[in-house]
Amino acid sequence: MGNIRQKALEESASHGAERFHEEKGPVSEYFGKNVFDLEKMKRYLSKEAYNAVVNAVEFGQKIEVEVADQIAIGMKNWAVEMGASHYTHWFQPLTDATAEKHESFISPLPNGGVFEKFSGSTLIQQEPDASSFPSGGLRNTFEARGYTAWDPSSPAFVLDGTLCIPTVFVAYNGESLDLKTPHLKSLQALNQTALDICKLFDKDVTRVNAVLGIEQEYFLVDESLYKARPDLVICDRTLIGHTAAKDQQLEDNYFGAIPNRVMDFMKDFETEAYKLGVKLKTRHNEVAPNQFEFAPIFGEANLSSDQNLLMMILMKKIAGRHHLKVIFHEKPFNGVNGSGKHCNWSMFTDTGIDLLAPGKTPKANLQFLCFFSSVIRAVYEHNQLLMSSVASLSNMYRLGGNEAPPAVMSIFLGETLTELLDSIEKLSPDNLSSLTGKDVKVRSKLHIVNQIPEIFPDNTDRNRTSPFAFTGNRFEFRAVGSSSNVASSIYVLNSIVAQQLKRFKTLVEEAKASGLSQDKAMMKTIRQFVIESKKIRFEGNGYSREWAEEAEKRGLKGITSAPMAYEQYITDKTMALFDDEGIFTRREALARFEVMNENYVKKLQIEARVMGDLATNHVVPTAITFQNKLLENVMNMKEIYPEKYHELCKTQIRMIEKISGYINRIHEGVHNLVEARKVANKIEDIHKKAIAYNDTVKPHMEDIRRAADKLEMVIDDELWPLPKYRELLSFK
Ligand code: ADP
Ligand code: MG
Repeated sequence: MGNIRQKALEESASHGAERFHEEKGPVSEYFGKNVFDLEKMKRYLSKEAYNAVVNAVEFGQKIEVEVADQIAIGMKNWAVEMGASHYTHWFQPLTDATAEKHESFISPLPNGGVFEKFSGSTLIQQEPDASSFPSGGLRNTFEARGYTAWDPSSPAFVLDGTLCIPTVFVAYNGESLDLKTPHLKSLQALNQTALDICKLFDKDVTRVNAVLGIEQEYFLVDESLYKARPDLVICDRTLIGHTAAKDQQLEDNYFGAIPNRVMDFMKDFETEAYKLGVKLKTRHNEVAPNQFEFAPIFGEANLSSDQNLLMMILMKKIAGRHHLKVIFHEKPFNGVNGSGKHCNWSMFTDTGIDLLAPGKTPKANLQFLCFFSSVIRAVYEHNQLLMSSVASLSNMYRLGGNEAPPAVMSIFLGETLTELLDSIEKLSPDNLSSLTGKDVKVRSKLHIVNQIPEIFPDNTDRNRTSPFAFTGNRFEFRAVGSSSNVASSIYVLNSIVAQQLKRFKTLVEEAKASGLSQDKAMMKTIRQFVIESKKIRFEGNGYSREWAEEAEKRGLKGITSAPMAYEQYITDKTMALFDDEGIFTRREALARFEVMNENYVKKLQIEARVMGDLATNHVVPTAITFQNKLLENVMNMKEIYPEKYHELCKTQIRMIEKISGYINRIHEGVHNLVEARKVANKIEDIHKKAIAYNDTVKPHMEDIRRAADKLEMVIDDELWPLPKYRELLSFK
């Protein structure tokens, strides 16, 4: 009989590659099969109902209840044919997870039987008994109603026999209780202000969509080994565990051959994801052992964000079939790379123009510069808020580490565009005629106005150390955490850009009023934005000490802890932003602030408890068992070599003492941890409590870990109860 770890190792050895992906034939034949998309709507809906959905999606028009009834019937007929027995409003409360409450379609018949029923009012709105979701005080018990309301812009789908309807989640008075609502509001705000600028170039543009391409990094671990680690099961990360002799030093994982077992999981997952309309494009090994990535083709931001959440659910489900566990935590293992969720973000017109892609004509390039300079200016203006939008307990373990973006915001542009902006800066503001091109001299094909029409920014110009990098036709926000709902960062990004574009337009109008032509008024504003936002641009190594010093000199402040970062949400500047763009009222912003702090405290509380349990009930008893073995050995030696045993047992005795030292350190650490929690728990103010947890509780976790990891190195391998890093991270 071995210990838990050995049993888990035996079990995991029997987990081979398994094949489930049963769909045969080209992906195009089954892509979107489980989604109630336009093609199915055409088949299942009346023309009137179909048009209502299209108008809602494209122009944000309201759907009347009578029409909703028709849509509901069509949707239900399709879902039942797909084998669905239940439906659910699928929503995104202020936890990291999505929520769903399933209802069956059945309705009683007078003869005692049942039939499938689904009405427009049920499609449009539900009132889940959701009083225990975090609301930050927005719902007192007497007004505890929360409503989910259908978001027609994200199509319904069937998953595991349930029709899932993407919805927003709001309080009885419309205050938002979720992440989708502010995201949708920010997209609307961005559409309005971006459209105003686009119309100056092309009257035919009627809509601007933010688009997102989300790269999802994750770890895979054998299910039996995972289950033998309470820290992974409960916290999704290892709280203790010594690094393996070999992990990523040889850089042989990144883009390496995908292990068979993982490949089977990937194919199986892809089949299901394709059926759900997720346009998966890329799959590969990541830098750390057992770390991988999936990336779909970019799409409209709200849909991409929903599909990312759906992907995460699906990955967990499919992994189970392969005796695997997916880990989305940003830093599950010390010493190897953490996981992010790079958000590739841009804006597209309904005429198909990528507003962050340099164009082929001077006019297109001028339009590109309007948007490009506004995004940079916006990120500069709200750099701390944007960085704060990625702050969470889990992501803070990753940020600022030597393989993750630093916790200070900066923008990388690449050489070509840096030169371009530098040359724009050098233009004489009094002599804007120089803007016709002569003086805008930069390397390669990058003359911007009139003379040489085409820009070829160097697509391979990459900087992996920047939290916000321009990559040729989009910005890549790399600081977003792998476990997060990207909506929480993207609504901030959309909002700040929407605000900046408004300012852009105002400045252009002012310049025009002073007699400048439109083009020149724009160039003047672009130049002003370039100058104003210069401090945020950084082309060097973001991981270096020099950058930390340089950032400080420039007055750029990073985020030091998640609770401190949350303060950014309630500054006057941020409140004004959210108010101007119609994202949150003051009350909503304050409520969100409270929820963030509360989540932080709760999560750290859980980690601290698990740490106490691991240290006291797993590590220390194992250390004592081993110490006894050593003591027994010394005593036996004493019997046989009464004279020499001390000399002969030098090593054992030293180990015995060392083990006592570590046990004491663990004991002390756990004591301090508990005491610090007691003090912190007495603090009433939730924000102050979160700060106390961060500053006074968290450090003890590190002390305990250090001692426990030392013990792992001295204790008999056979006795150690927790699967080790080399075993957890062992896919070849
Ligand atoms: P890399 O790892 O080199 O950054 P990937 O291929 O893994 O690249 O992911 C790039 C992501 O960026 C994909 O989701 C892709 O669809 C998306 N993307 C490409 N062009 C744009 C664009 N113009 N706007 C937004 N996203 C884009
Ligand atoms: Mg990328």
